[in-house]
Amino acid sequence: MAIISDDAGIEKRAKRNPIIKSETIEYDNTFENSIRPKDFESYIGQSALKETLRIILEAAKKRGKPLDHMLFYGPPGLGKTTIAGVIASQMGVEIKITSAPSLERPRDIIGILMSLKGGEILFIDEIHRLNKVAEEILYPAMEDFTLDMTTGKSQTAKTLRVPLPKFTLIGATTKAGELSSPLRDRFGMIHRLEFYTVEELSEVVKRTARILDIDITQEGATAIAMRSRGTPRIANRLVKRVSDFAIVKYDGKIDEDVANESLDILKIDEFGLDNTDRALLSLIIDKYDGGPVGIETIAAALSEDVRTIEDVCEPYLLQAGLLQRTPRGRKVSPEGFRHLGRKMPSAQTSLFRLD
Ligand code: ADP
Repeated sequence: MAIISDDAGIEKRAKRNPIIKSETIEYDNTFENSIRPKDFESYIGQSALKETLRIILEAAKKRGKPLDHMLFYGPPGLGKTTIAGVIASQMGVEIKITSAPSLERPRDIIGILMSLKGGEILFIDEIHRLNKVAEEILYPAMEDFTLDMTTGKSQTAKTLRVPLPKFTLIGATTKAGELSSPLRDRFGMIHRLEFYTVEELSEVVKRTARILDIDITQEGATAIAMRSRGTPRIANRLVKRVSDFAIVKYDGKIDEDVANESLDILKIDEFGLDNTDRALLSLIIDKYDGGPVGIETIAAALSEDVRTIEDVCEPYLLQAGLLQRTPRGRKVSPEGFRHLGRKMPSAQTSLFRLD
């Protein structure tokens, strides 16, 4: 899937340069970057988060102190990186962006920490993938703004405490459960980003269309929003795909019919599921009588990696109630069978009734 291939690019590039500056945040993806909201007003939805942040930011400004460390979690494309950028611009400070897989060696994380200036924000994406050494360097840095460095060897070794400027760490993760508790406990604020409603996503669609100078009706925006799996990144991609279609086949304007027709051609159904999602559900139904079946088996049969399935496909299928997670693996829900127009095997039906 596209998101994962982006990640592979990020990792390669980040290995060469652990700090990816905000200007190149989308790793050459100028489209995403050009439409990324920069302030609270253009950051749509997540109202509880924005309310809390407004208060925290104002209090920090009044006290003249840096912000508490923050952790944002939730599926990809919901706006974790974007909100970190909004926070930085509202505070008028620089943000340095990196991702955990690029902080392999101690000197990577030490280098970044030492390059920070007072009040600056360090954003670490996929923070659940930090290795133990990097985590242990982060503990005193987050808590006391110091780096504990060891010099010399064995008996003559000395620990040196190097002061760091007071910075704010913003971590983002798709898997909060995989963070070690000492690391999780060092964040002053932990917030889960929610999937967006159709109304919110249609605002995202209209905003993006405005920036790209695309003519769209309210009904056209709603049609795209309904198939965007609750995710702004997907909504934005669909606006672009549908707009290409509208330019080639129509007069360039997106209305409800143009949106629906192009999304049908793109094989994105009314739930927003694409071919991979449908293949996943069909596989469990056809080969495993609806499940339960282990994630590794599913990934191998689909020739996808486990991470793509867990991070990209599953969260929405679970939230839409099409898939269920059980201790013995994944199974397709009655709603999932219905969505694909399949009949549930009778044993499965009674099994679900017992649930
Ligand atoms: P994450 O870091 O959670 O994977 P991003 O912050 O990179 O997601 O967001 C992906 C894209 O979706 C961004 O380019 C941005 O344009 C758009 N986006 C995310 N959140 C919002 C929002 N609340 N309002 C408008 N656009 C958003």
